[in-house]
Amino acid sequence: MPGPAHRPEDPGGPVVALTVHADLLPLLPARARRAGRLLVRHEEHATAGHVVQAAGVPLTEVGALAVDGSPASPADRLPPGAELHAGVVARPQPVPAGGFLLDVHLGSLARRMRLLGLDAAWSAHADDPDLVVRAREQDRVLLTADRGLLLRRALPRGALVRGAGADAQLADVLDRFRPALAPLTRCTACGSPLRAVAKEEVAAELPAGTRRTYDEFSRCAACGRVY
Ligand SMILES: [Zn+2]
Repeated sequence: MPGPAHRPEDPGGPVVALTVHADLLPLLPARARRAGRLLVRHEEHATAGHVVQAAGVPLTEVGALAVDGSPASPADRLPPGAELHAGVVARPQPVPAGGFLLDVHLGSLARRMRLLGLDAAWSAHADDPDLVVRAREQDRVLLTADRGLLLRRALPRGALVRGAGADAQLADVLDRFRPALAPLTRCTACGSPLRAVAKEEVAAELPAGTRRTYDEFSRCAACGRVY
């Protein structure tokens, strides 16, 4: 026999009401987007951070939390009937010492970031656990458009990249982190720094047209590619 029917907006018993900054609203389930808030059943041991992530909002995207109007931390437990609000992460956000790490789907974005001189590690073959380990070990912020990856507990720093297409994604990353740019100082193929080389040193590797037209060259210290 079925139990008492509840509308999804009315879980029954004590609840917690989650509201989020407008920028985070698209991350909530459709019914919560329409209602402007998400009602979830109150669980004695659930923390503020758990409720936010269970709603589909990675904590990497969240700034200040408030419970019933007072500042709260992700580890705080919530009283029955609590009103939990999640703000959006402040911009610009500092870039960690290790730079950026991009997931396998963001190869075009990685090339654009390298062109601007940003340390953007990317590999076509890294699986999700590899990315989490590398972000941690190399002190990098993991960029991804896959929020499931950001919901992994072991990930120290991450960011949800917004925008359809690499140009919009680049604009989002530059706005979020406002990193110092150094165009044409990195290899777009592997991301390593370039060093200037004399024309004689690379002449044999150049097509004839390039050899006639250009006088300044640099070479990737890691993969040897000439620019
Ligand atoms: Zn290279």
